[in-house]
Amino acid sequence: MIIDAHCHLFTNDAALGFVSGSTFDEFVQELDGCGVEKFILFTIGGLFRDFQKSNDEIRNMYQKFPERIIPFGTTNPWYGEEALAEIDRCVNVLGMKGFKLHPWMMGFAINSVQMLPVMERISDYGMPVLVHSGTVPWSEPLQIAYLASQFPKVQFILAHMGITDLWKEAIDAARRYSNIWLETAGTPTVAIKTALQEIGPERIIFGSDSPYGGVGGCQFQMNKLKYLKLGKHAEALLLGENLRRILNI
Ligand SMILES: [Zn+2]
Repeated sequence: MIIDAHCHLFTNDAALGFVSGSTFDEFVQELDGCGVEKFILFTIGGLFRDFQKSNDEIRNMYQKFPERIIPFGTTNPWYGEEALAEIDRCVNVLGMKGFKLHPWMMGFAINSVQMLPVMERISDYGMPVLVHSGTVPWSEPLQIAYLASQFPKVQFILAHMGITDLWKEAIDAARRYSNIWLETAGTPTVAIKTALQEIGPERIIFGSDSPYGGVGGCQFQMNKLKYLKLGKHAEALLLGENLRRILNI
């Protein structure tokens, strides 16, 4: 089964400056064309405002497409008790299966003290966290690795595995901690190739960041893996089996 670890719900709210140019149906059609059966969906707008409302929007989509969508919630550590209450609501009321955090958009350092109660709560629920990685100064792989060392029960998925500048650091992070997984959206092919050589295929995960990148974005991200000629076993792991292990599905 092919699972895409990284999709956003674009509400095409021009005021946010994030407009995908495609409707939700068009975006799902594109995933269909790539053979994606399930996808993790989380917000984009809620990463910098109205996270509770944005989590409700994800829940609404999940109710429409329960077979396709794996819903991830978000919360903002700046909000203290309100952030913790939203974690509870995401898990107990909205049925979220994990969390997305985006330190540079939300304006906090991933290894700062206000993250500790947030991570404790997420760890109590045994939920995975997908964190944007590769953007200084707040989303560096080794900062996330520090958090991974403090919360060994949490599976940390490094979205973009450090992108273009910090992918070597992302591989270092994964080498140090077995609860770090590398996700491939937006990262160069050479980074994925090196990760395969250095840590093997068991903790590398396909993600497309759709519908970011517009029409053809998912296919483009998938082609990077095809060019690497992974072989059947490794391809199955990257395209879905690894994520199934994290999510217990
Ligand atoms: Zn993204």
